[in-house]
Amino acid sequence: MIYAANFKTNHTRQSTREYLGKLQAKLLLELNPNDKIYIFPPLTALDEYSSSDFTVGVQNAYPVEKGAFTGEVGLEQLAEFNINTILIGHSERRDILGESQEQIAKKFAFFKEQGFKIIYCIGESLEIREQGIESVMEHLISQFDGIDTTYENFMVAYEPIWAIGTGRTASVEEITQTHNELKKVVDRPLLYGGSVKGANIAQISAIENVNGVLVGGASLNPESFLELVLH
Ligand code: PEP
Repeated sequence: MIYAANFKTNHTRQSTREYLGKLQAKLLLELNPNDKIYIFPPLTALDEYSSSDFTVGVQNAYPVEKGAFTGEVGLEQLAEFNINTILIGHSERRDILGESQEQIAKKFAFFKEQGFKIIYCIGESLEIREQGIESVMEHLISQFDGIDTTYENFMVAYEPIWAIGTGRTASVEEITQTHNELKKVVDRPLLYGGSVKGANIAQISAIENVNGVLVGGASLNPESFLELVLH
């Protein structure tokens, strides 16, 4: 299983260091060698963390090496911290920060060119979900516009927007059906995201075609994230 923690706009460099220290102490002894852990702290918390038990990536970056892009961070800044893993297409970036599919596809192409590991996020609104699986799939497939789905170093995170941060998880049937359909379209590891927590990880991770989880709220403290990872 793949366990990815998205801190969003939470944690500082100091609290991230403390978090990773706690994680490392426990994972060193108890991590299943088949599991893989990714941590996505905010950009200001990047530092020289090194561990074979987890990989630190970024929640976002600008698709450029360096230059005049006020407020953005490019390859040069990521390289300082040996970052080569990135989340692209998260619904908060699409919906709150206004990233278009075209911009997302450019970002994907750029970081693909650099050989980054990409966790590419897709997901539908509640309105679309209520129209049924055909509408859901039509929408999800449209989020692959401009994306090279043959890139061998990427994974997909299916995150229904209505399940993110709401405490409302998609049902086992909804996840099963959606992941089965997605697998036909893109043969890459599939993560589920949306209110994953200690209480539902066993059920979700047992679903065929769920190869991992992307976790927001329940990843914010090391104890609740470890509860997921070591369930
Ligand atoms: C997310 O935003 O990627 C996410 C899955 O958040 P949460 O776990 O809080 O629903």
